Amino acid sequence: MTAEPRFCHRFLMNLHDEFDRRHLWHPYTSTIDPLPTYKVERAEGCNIYLADGTCLIDGMASWWCQIHGYNHPRLNAALTAQMSKVSHIMFGGLTHEPAIELGKLLLEMAPPTMNNIFYADSGSVATEVAMKMAVQARISTTGSHQATNFATIRSGYHGDTWNAMSVCDPVTGMHSAFGSSLPIRYFAPQPRVRFGQEWDPADFEQMEILLREHSDELAGVILEPIVQGAGGMWFYHPEYLRRLRRLCTELGLYLIFDEVATGFWRTGKCFAAEHAGVEPDIMTIGKGLTGGYMTMSAVLTTAKVADDISRGEAGVMMHGPTFMANPLACAVALESLKMLCEQDMASRIAHIETELSRLMAPARELDGVADVRVLGAIGVIEMKEPVNVGEFQKECVRRGIWVRPFGRNVYVMPPYVITDKELQTLVGETIEIIR
Ligand code: PMP
Repeated sequence: MTAEPRFCHRFLMNLHDEFDRRHLWHPYTSTIDPLPTYKVERAEGCNIYLADGTCLIDGMASWWCQIHGYNHPRLNAALTAQMSKVSHIMFGGLTHEPAIELGKLLLEMAPPTMNNIFYADSGSVATEVAMKMAVQARISTTGSHQATNFATIRSGYHGDTWNAMSVCDPVTGMHSAFGSSLPIRYFAPQPRVRFGQEWDPADFEQMEILLREHSDELAGVILEPIVQGAGGMWFYHPEYLRRLRRLCTELGLYLIFDEVATGFWRTGKCFAAEHAGVEPDIMTIGKGLTGGYMTMSAVLTTAKVADDISRGEAGVMMHGPTFMANPLACAVALESLKMLCEQDMASRIAHIETELSRLMAPARELDGVADVRVLGAIGVIEMKEPVNVGEFQKECVRRGIWVRPFGRNVYVMPPYVITDKELQTLVGETIEIIR
């Protein structure tokens, strides 16, 4: 497919705001040599409109979270209605309807053993809270302060705060930038048996050895179920999680599933762990929770975890952010979840998966491409060499699409409302750029 440029190249310069370039930090960006940024005026459905009117088809869902598309009338209405009641109120000693109703619906959607909900600010904070919970619960059940470390798998990503960084991949993550200031964790190899491939028991051996050897030092295990996101966009075999679940139960370790990116149907199931038919002790959710409208996350636990914490030395869960259960975020999240429950999401995502598989297949034949994989509404083209993000994005904008590669991965995970035609343009143009 050849591209019909949606706007003239010379306008590109108008989009780079000088104040922004000089004074604003963007994610993972140098102030000396920042990557270009494009000024957005508005966004609607699956379309992002730049300041000069250029329309881009969104392939990123704003990093997984804009599941219903931008500027959705129902989400807008939920937010405005709540605003005129109360925008924020402390959650210490006070409660409110949006938090309660959101909690009820979350527990209906979550794995059946989930019973207690801790509302937090972002995915990274949810990771911190989940790890703190595991530590408090483990101290409570063992009576020992030794079992406070964590095991995880390589190529994971759990956020940018201190403990979250410590369980990100030690090589591609941020360990080297922060040296000895990060806690040292135990890392098992990345699961190598792919989703959909035949299971090989050897894949779990190193994790089993690690956990049996170090269980006295560990509070738990944290990992992203089925799909590893920012650490490599890798899809692994569900049997790995089933074995891990059994072993954690045997050793008394808390199993934490980070569903911040995978939650709310992105992988074709409401939560990715459903592919394996197992449940964690603690799970984190975020990103799509508010339909991408506001920052909010939650940590869900079994009643046992909550009770273990409450019976411990402190007697309470030691965390309580200022904006906990922000009513605006709860109200918009509640509406977003209602919208998911009203639709046949399994069929919707299955359709996107079929289309992505069909449209991305030609990329396999390209020289620089190492692998192509699709699961749910995630499509990944893994290159043999790292991609030049600045150059790639310039070309994306020229062709009217929005895709932001990282490392060797060029990937799309569009809003679920994307039309077949938009998806065709998005993937077609992406492949053309790669070509
Ligand atoms: N966990 C996972 C699996 C994620 O993908 C992310 C964000 N990319 C986070 C945690 C951190 O979320 P946040 O950026 O909202 O802090």
